[in-house]
Amino acid sequence: MLKAVIARLRQGHRTIKFPSAPPPSLPDRFRGRPVLDGARCREGCRACADACPTGAISLEGGRRIDLGKCLFCADCVAACPEGALVHAADYRLSASRREDLDVELEKSGPLLASALEKKMKHLFGRSLKLRQVSAGGCNACEADVNVLGTIGWDLGRFGIQMVASPRHADGLLLTGPVTKNMELALRKTWNAIAEPKLLIAVGSCAISGGPYIGHAETDDGINGFAPDLKADLFVPGCPPHPLTILDGLLRLLGRIEGEGWPPKR
Ligand code: SF4
Ligand code: SF4
Repeated sequence: MLKAVIARLRQGHRTIKFPSAPPPSLPDRFRGRPVLDGARCREGCRACADACPTGAISLEGGRRIDLGKCLFCADCVAACPEGALVHAADYRLSASRREDLDVELEKSGPLLASALEKKMKHLFGRSLKLRQVSAGGCNACEADVNVLGTIGWDLGRFGIQMVASPRHADGLLLTGPVTKNMELALRKTWNAIAEPKLLIAVGSCAISGGPYIGHAETDDGINGFAPDLKADLFVPGCPPHPLTILDGLLRLLGRIEGEGWPPKR
């Protein structure tokens, strides 16, 4: 017993201090949003857009990227003959509206989701229970949501918990592209959550279908499943880094405002 206590004391406090202190350094291989150096871009070249497996890059009428479709796969970076595309190092990528994920390819700033309106923030700001539904994803988004429950991140210190029943939940955290055989389960889960409730889409699958976009057996994410449902938070990535998910959740609850901490490698 004494040995266990000594070992515990030696280990110290393992939970990151974010957001009251800067987040841990991001690894070199972390891929944020693709950003284009327009000065190096060759006129008429379409290599990046043609290489993109999800059609996230559009070059007609301005160079833009839909981060809701982006897989952060680096195919566009590798395809550019001029080396004009790089992945930014910024983990701040969440948005409150789907259209806010459609951004200029040449801009590199963070995406900062807005806080809930006053009444909803009052209801959920200190205690938010979420039911997670994996609607046909590959399990990577789910794994990175699970990471937030480990001792290193301790999501519970913000009053945010994943719960086992939609009857106990204040909202639904969706991952996966919503496959046809998950439609009924997803609808039942959503209907079982009492109003008012939140909807959070995590990962490119849940936002747009991700790598399964256009497949006949999926709904291309939440909008294809129920176009009338308005998600409160979109967290892009394939999968998103746990820091990106945490940043989005805390912004939604008004626990992070403004730019927050800039990223560091
Ligand atoms: S990182 Fe991949 S998915 Fe994203 S724009 Fe580039 S090629 Fe498309
Ligand atoms: S967004 Fe990517 S990582 Fe997440 S479930 Fe879909 S395929 Fe997997």
